[in-house]
Amino acid sequence: MSANDKTQMHAVAQAAGNATAGSAAHPVPDRHGANFYATDPELQSLLKLYLPADLLAHLQPCLQRMGELAGGRIDELAGIADRNPPELEHRTRAGQDSQCIIKHPAYEELERIAYGEFGLQAISHRDDMLGWQGKMPPIVKYALTYLFVQSEFGLCCPLSMTDSLTRTLKKFGAPGLVGKYLPQLLSLDWDEQAQGAMFMTEQAAGSDIANTLTMAAPQADGSWLLTGDKWFCSNPDAEFAMVLARVEGGAPGMKGISLFLLPRTLDDGSANHYRIIRLKDKLGTRSMASGEIRMDGAVAYLVGEQGRGFVQMADMVNNSRLSNGVRSAGMMRRAVAEAEFIAHERIAFGKRLEDMPLMQRQLDKLRVPAEQARTMVFQTAQTLMRSDAGEPNAYALLRILTPLIKFRACRDARKVTGDAMEVRGGCGYIEEWSDPRLVRDAHLGSIWEGTSNIVALDVIRAIKREGSLPVLQQYLHGLLDQAKLVPAYRKALEDALTRASALAEKAAQGGGLNGGEVLARQAATGLYNCTTAIAMAWEAAQTGSNERLRLSQLVLLHRVLPRDPLETAEVPAAWQE
Ligand SMILES: Cc1cc2nc3c(=O)[nH]c(=O)nc-3n(C[C@H](O)[C@H](O)[C@H](O)COP(=O)(O)OP(=O)(O)OC[C@H]3O[C@@H](n4cnc5c(N)ncnc54)[C@H](O)[C@@H]3O)c2cc1C
Repeated sequence: MSANDKTQMHAVAQAAGNATAGSAAHPVPDRHGANFYATDPELQSLLKLYLPADLLAHLQPCLQRMGELAGGRIDELAGIADRNPPELEHRTRAGQDSQCIIKHPAYEELERIAYGEFGLQAISHRDDMLGWQGKMPPIVKYALTYLFVQSEFGLCCPLSMTDSLTRTLKKFGAPGLVGKYLPQLLSLDWDEQAQGAMFMTEQAAGSDIANTLTMAAPQADGSWLLTGDKWFCSNPDAEFAMVLARVEGGAPGMKGISLFLLPRTLDDGSANHYRIIRLKDKLGTRSMASGEIRMDGAVAYLVGEQGRGFVQMADMVNNSRLSNGVRSAGMMRRAVAEAEFIAHERIAFGKRLEDMPLMQRQLDKLRVPAEQARTMVFQTAQTLMRSDAGEPNAYALLRILTPLIKFRACRDARKVTGDAMEVRGGCGYIEEWSDPRLVRDAHLGSIWEGTSNIVALDVIRAIKREGSLPVLQQYLHGLLDQAKLVPAYRKALEDALTRASALAEKAAQGGGLNGGEVLARQAATGLYNCTTAIAMAWEAAQTGSNERLRLSQLVLLHRVLPRDPLETAEVPAAWQE
């Protein structure tokens, strides 16, 4: 540990008792040491709504523990790991060629918490997790991730890829392949446990996967040899990666692309034939390694059908996109919680910041997108569970909710983390605090797993191919029926949904400029805002939260309805009667 890290540990250790000490204790408020679950009554209330009572009661100690760690130890470790990025070594000290990524002990401790203590990568695949007998709904995994990511974002990428790779392998892999490798992926023993990765992107094939150049040659024993370069590979030393490659002599374009499982180690214990060329020097996620890979006859196994690679990989990508939405929601929650704490504790001009009208308005501007994303996490995770259970229409709904949360929540996280930084004043710009890391990390969500344009176009694809729009409309009308709203507010929500749906329809049908594509982002934003405003109103009715209803109305007022920039915008009295 460097002297700098020791100073940081000292600083946060002193602050630990300060989080609840009150503004009189010290003029510069420090929330370090707060329990992120115990200090989040809204999360507790939403979990009561979305999880069965017996499961939630069972999970309370686990949620409390994750909340405590996220506000304390995980936060300390994340700061250290961020300042000590991984390094790639190519040789042993004796001069043997053997690649190794050296990770800082702080990152390894984070890994032990996430994979070892909580088993976040395995929750969706085992029925004996966290002391609970039976399968747990995806909301459990996402609720714990939501707390964890408030302090550490980088590690959530390998966690999510391990979870998603396992899902894809189980869904499409041949029984022999699944039987051989699944136990390692699902092991809870730290020394045996294997991690996952996803190598898709090439220099000319990022959004445009059809340009994939990596080649796959069949072998007599049923395995394949992969040759080619992958340009962005997070967690590049993972035990397993899902790789897209083109089968020799296969169809051109997307139809010639197949999916392969690439183990890092061969059956005889030797290293597989690929090299990590270098690690990327990144703006954010600095704790976690992302690199470039060159495969030179690397042994791999076909997953699922030949030529269906992209379709099968889409399942893994969609799972990762949802996870990205959850992470952005978590980062926004952290930003808002810090801002609220500072506004409560910090005194200026003889007053608490939170008592100043302009600060109150700024805080609401942070809360609205953060709470929209939180609602969307629960709604999408619940739909994933229903889709996996084969409920009618649930897949079509999931297909549109997933890109909606990935698109809008990831974009909102950029702004919310940046604006929350300002609430801390000058300290917000200083690397000792969480704000700069949050801002840097938040910018990645809307680039990887599909950029904003690509994901917005996927919303339109879901409408065209899966018939998702009428399913979404029907679902939201069902929520409105249960939301017990005053007629004027219900009508305002219905009208907004009708207009947003018409815009989305126009984008899908090719109306407007450039065949409708140009409308994709505007349409996705409109659908997201209407979906969240309605779902938040529904949650308000179920939980009795006036605050959630107020936030729902602010979504409609400030993010959906037209307004004159030179007029004040007030919630109409008729919405509140
Ligand atoms: C830190 C980091 C880690 C990553 N980890 C991984 C990983 O583990 N595995 C992996 O496979 N990949 C990974 N990626 C790659 C990432 O998913 C890609 O960078 C991303 O999908 C964009 O691809 P690209 O870089 O080729 O950009 P391009 O596809 O060239 O896109 C450039 C711009 O063009 C726009 N664009 C492209 N097509 C269209 C269109 N049809 N309409 C309108 N606009 C369009 C895009 O929105 C974007 O703004 C990682 C990236 C980063 C930054």
